Amino acid sequence: MSEQKTEIAIIGGGLAGLTMAAVLDAYGFKAVCIDRDKPQKQATEKFDGRTTAISAGSRRLLDAIGIWDDIKDHACPIEQIRVADGTSPKFLHFDSLETGLGDFGWIIENYRLRRLLINRIENSKHIDYKTGVAVDHFERQKSAVQLNLSDKTVITANLVIAADGVKSKTREWLGIPVRKWSYDQTAIVCTVEHELDHENIAVEHFMPAGPFAILPMTDDEKGHHRSSLVWTEHGGDAPEILALPDKDFNKMLDIKFGGQLGAVKAVTKPQNFTLDLCHAKKYIAPNAVLIAEAAHRIHPIAGQGLNLSLRDVACLSEVLVEARNLGLEYSNLSVLQKYQNWRRTDNLAMAVMTDGLNRLFSNNIGAVRALRTTGLGIIQKMPPVKRFFEKQAMGLSGKLPKIIKTGTL
Ligand SMILES: Cc1cc2nc3c(=O)[nH]c(=O)nc-3n(C[C@H](O)[C@H](O)[C@H](O)COP(=O)(O)OP(=O)(O)OC[C@H]3O[C@@H](n4cnc5c(N)ncnc54)[C@H](O)[C@@H]3O)c2cc1C
Repeated sequence: MSEQKTEIAIIGGGLAGLTMAAVLDAYGFKAVCIDRDKPQKQATEKFDGRTTAISAGSRRLLDAIGIWDDIKDHACPIEQIRVADGTSPKFLHFDSLETGLGDFGWIIENYRLRRLLINRIENSKHIDYKTGVAVDHFERQKSAVQLNLSDKTVITANLVIAADGVKSKTREWLGIPVRKWSYDQTAIVCTVEHELDHENIAVEHFMPAGPFAILPMTDDEKGHHRSSLVWTEHGGDAPEILALPDKDFNKMLDIKFGGQLGAVKAVTKPQNFTLDLCHAKKYIAPNAVLIAEAAHRIHPIAGQGLNLSLRDVACLSEVLVEARNLGLEYSNLSVLQKYQNWRRTDNLAMAVMTDGLNRLFSNNIGAVRALRTTGLGIIQKMPPVKRFFEKQAMGLSGKLPKIIKTGTL
């Protein structure tokens, strides 16, 4: 058995935990970041074939920790967004040229971001990155937390940051209850190659079973045009689609795309994700704090889950740095309370909004359909309302932490 003391222990090295570690490193905090999986497994397309629509706010955070420069050549700008009700030819149209704020966001492959973050942490000054070991036991002590790892290491930390995902054991150990429900929807995700250029336009069709989103990606090395597909189906219907032979799956894609990008074919094996909502009733406890999906999971209809998590990272680090500068013990509840106040309402608001959007659009009830058509028409004609939605999606509204406001530490 080996024993180790540290200022901060991050449980979970997913995209959120790794970013947290990179920001803490940049601010000079000594931390341990623990993940039960090995990086060789995590940093592959097979492990996570999703892409993320990185908002302008998140881009600034990645810029501040020196990641953006390395990923920007693989980040496809979203210059326009088209939102259509079903297969209706009328759509709500957002154009970044009208906002004067630049691109709406960038589509990047999760595995590329993960690879860069892992590399950053492996070469960091202050982070001890432990992989292939799980946290098996958690015990609160007088003014610290003791963690028992599967390799028999015992870690004592002043503060534990739980970034261990939606099924967070840490949240359970802390006795923090959640509000949650399932959407009975499955997202089928894959990369598709298509004949025509997407012209940096993201398209989202709201179908009765859920959103069908086509997100523009950078061309591959051979110059093939690519998009990331998020195809939502009722939970019960997804297995049949996933079991289709490639030829039949591609035939269905052709029908679903309706020729808008010419001939289409899947070039990665479709992966599936069940969709649910989960929100922790509180984010903090003495010497412990929840971030990212350990605190909140939302419907991906607006592509905001990780963006919210990166904002958690930015706000928590700002609160910790401020406390340290004032000579306060940063693991105190009064300090952590600031983080909770800052983030919980914002995350809850996005959870409610995405839940409402999904309920409004994922059905085929005549009266609701008429309301939607009128609603989309009204929004299209009201530039201030459009600007409001655009700023939300870009992650530039509300009280911004310094990293996101300035793009620097
Ligand atoms: C279809 C789909 C599309 C999406 N698109 C977008 C998008 O466009 N934009 C966006 O912002 N968000 C998007 N999201 C959301 C985003 O993908 C998630 O929010 C994000 O991946 C969650 O990251 P995380 O680090 O919080 O959790 P996880 O990825 O679940 O990481 C948790 C980590 O903790 C580790 N762990 C767990 N327990 C232990 C333990 N006991 N000991 C050690 N390690 C442990 C796990 O191994 C794992 O690596 C999408 C989600 C879906 C499903």
